[in-house]
Amino acid sequence: MKLIRFGDEGREKPGILLPDGRRLDASSEFQDYDEGFFAAGGLDVLGEWVADGCPGGDVVDPLARLGPPVKRPSKLVCVGKNYLEHAKEIGEGIPTEPALFMKATSAWSGPFDDVIIPRGSTKLDYEVELAVVIGRVATYVDEHEALACVAGYATFCDFSERAFQKEMGGQWTKGKSADSFAPMGPWLVTAEEIADPQKLRLWCKVNGELRQNSWTGDMLFSVRQLIAYISRFMTLLPGDVVATGTPCGVAMGRSPPRYLQAGDFVECGVEGLGELAQRVVASKGI
Ligand code: ZN
Repeated sequence: MKLIRFGDEGREKPGILLPDGRRLDASSEFQDYDEGFFAAGGLDVLGEWVADGCPGGDVVDPLARLGPPVKRPSKLVCVGKNYLEHAKEIGEGIPTEPALFMKATSAWSGPFDDVIIPRGSTKLDYEVELAVVIGRVATYVDEHEALACVAGYATFCDFSERAFQKEMGGQWTKGKSADSFAPMGPWLVTAEEIADPQKLRLWCKVNGELRQNSWTGDMLFSVRQLIAYISRFMTLLPGDVVATGTPCGVAMGRSPPRYLQAGDFVECGVEGLGELAQRVVASKGI
């Protein structure tokens, strides 16, 4: 299944994208795609509703904004330097264990929403990633059990401000957390549709130029390993999102760096999961 959320920011309703391309409103049956939905086995109930022909499901206005396909999660856990060539272009060595960091969930954003240049920013960068949405509570899971904890997958862009990230001390959080820095979507593809999350192409284009072009088989630590690893340090809750790292080709890794400017257009895609599209806009007031 492909889950969508639609409507104005903060007021999205749940819906479904059917294989024939129709978008139907599921809000007559389901409140939202949130922690409670996944924890209560909502995906199974949704599957039954779809199998029944989506009774009561109105067609979604084609002009409606698409929001992120799950409600803002309790946690947005990111993995740094998880592709060898990207680890090299970033510098700072090759990780021997997954490098984890958190991104503020207030950065949560829809698949076609603008990305806003934060005040004082000079080094805005893009990072296409495979996002994993957790479907059940995961604490100390082992690798063999890890994929059973996955509700589905989506395309994600880990927008990053490199000066905030690397030149202002402390951890990476400052460079990763501005409003609009975490677009995900355009839909959540449920796990049974993805036979192997390590066999997906992923790419990023800026103004139509291919900047990142790789595949998830190049991850240093697989989705399975990452979920097991993260669950040693924190409990992953239903609806939480794990961003699994980006391949090489980011703006910072180029010589000279080619950071994003207002007016640029960023498209990120993962095979089978659809594409995001962000217009880069200046923050109001600068
Ligand atoms: Zn990233």
